[in-house]
Amino acid sequence: MLYGYTCQKCKHVFDLNCSVSDRDKATREPCPACSAEAVTRDVSAANISYTGFISLHKRAGSGFNDLLKKIKKGAGKNAVVNHV
Ligand SMILES: [Zn+2]
Repeated sequence: MLYGYTCQKCKHVFDLNCSVSDRDKATREPCPACSAEAVTRDVSAANISYTGFISLHKRAGSGFNDLLKKIKKGAGKNAVVNHV
């Protein structure tokens, strides 16, 4: 499985091909770019349904765009975010 990771410090985004049981291993490793121990695993955009985005929009209000940006950034190049 290919998992995406993001460094919360320098926003370096990288992918690792690892097994399900090892997918969180990289989050305990330092960032390959800046060596900060701030790596988080990206949540797959495929797991977020479109209706989820709609209800999120209603709830988040004006904060939605920031949230969307955050999600896009977090999901990196694997993200597919559809707009109407
Ligand atoms: Zn980093």
